[in-house]
Amino acid sequence: ALHNSLVELKGNIRVHCRIRPFWSFGHKLDGSASQNCTTPGEVVHAVDDETVLVRCALPGRPPTDKTYNFERVYGPAASQAVVFEDIRPLLISLLDGYNVCIMAYGQTGSGKSYTMLGPHSEDDAAALLSGVHEDLGIIPRAAEELFRLISENPSRSPKVDVSIVEIYNNNIFDLLAKDNSTVMLGAKCQMATMQEGRSEVPRLTCRPVTSAEEFVGLIHKGVRLRVQHPTLVHKNSSRSHLIVTATLTTASPLGNTATQSSQASLQKIAGASNWWITPPPASSPHTIPADSADHPGQVLARLQLVDLAGSECSAVSGVTGLALKETSFINRSLAALADVLGALSEHCDHIPYRNSKLTHLLQDSIGGNAKLLMILCVSPGQKHMAETLRGLTFGAQAR
Ligand code: ADP
Repeated sequence: ALHNSLVELKGNIRVHCRIRPFWSFGHKLDGSASQNCTTPGEVVHAVDDETVLVRCALPGRPPTDKTYNFERVYGPAASQAVVFEDIRPLLISLLDGYNVCIMAYGQTGSGKSYTMLGPHSEDDAAALLSGVHEDLGIIPRAAEELFRLISENPSRSPKVDVSIVEIYNNNIFDLLAKDNSTVMLGAKCQMATMQEGRSEVPRLTCRPVTSAEEFVGLIHKGVRLRVQHPTLVHKNSSRSHLIVTATLTTASPLGNTATQSSQASLQKIAGASNWWITPPPASSPHTIPADSADHPGQVLARLQLVDLAGSECSAVSGVTGLALKETSFINRSLAALADVLGALSEHCDHIPYRNSKLTHLLQDSIGGNAKLLMILCVSPGQKHMAETLRGLTFGAQAR
């Protein structure tokens, strides 16, 4: 009971902050140089597991320190595996019937794609998921963990359907469209809100997957299209939001056995940082009307994994044309996200999900009893301090 009241008190939104390694002049410093010593120009530090310190030094003034607290703070030496360890329990919650969203927020270059997908170079999107295993990011690790948990528990094998979309200038693009090219579902594509409250994108491709390899294969395909859009002028993936959605459906309602065994798995991995343990939601699974051809059965839960567009807003002044249009769409969608989080934290009756395609698409996994983890990515350098402070303030308010 004490645990449950703590969970309620903290709500279902968590923010973790990840500080990427520092490097200057466009070159990475070697790992050993950036581990423990402070490099000039490196102004953002992980003080402990929950605190970020920013040293603000203005010319001619003594430096002032600002600190920000989050549920978890990862310094530059934190590995992909360490970051994922704190996420693992969310996949158990997913199988327990909770909708789950994991999103990376931050300015371009702060490590969002690295965190969500893995290392990559601008020109070679395909290399993104083909790195060595220890470099893999949250999305491929989540795919692996999901199917590991499913195989551990054959009494409950939900069907998994994956869709991948990109939101660019408030248009939705289907990155799994059949003809190997993206399909713009478009500005005119009105999202439908189903009877039971789920938001759906009509005509969106949903592919069934039966293994982590298949899941990762689809992500590979989608991510490659994201930067090679034949239909788009933009080449830069940091100007769009990427949303990977896995919908889990079960043929029949869940029995208690499944719940008990997932609680047992939870116990196995429960550690100090395991803050997501909650009993399965009373309302799961969500019933789908019999006439829904795409998802016969019952939706157990939905997992949404999001690599947001770069949050920097400084580019608004002095840019024109397409860049200005892109920036203002990004700013509007991120402002809509902030409004939704603000309305949730103030327990407002009306949550303004419909103000942007981004928040409408994520409606099921933000709010209610869904679990949202935002990973705030920040650069440690002096050069990025203004954006970093904005990001840290955003993250601190989102909690
Ligand atoms: P974003 O998606 O926010 O624009 P990226 O993920 O592309 O940023 O990161 C920028 C660069 O920094 C990439 O080359 C990426 O591989 C690298 N990088 C980011 N975070 C880390 C990290 N924690 N460890 C090692 N390299 C990183």
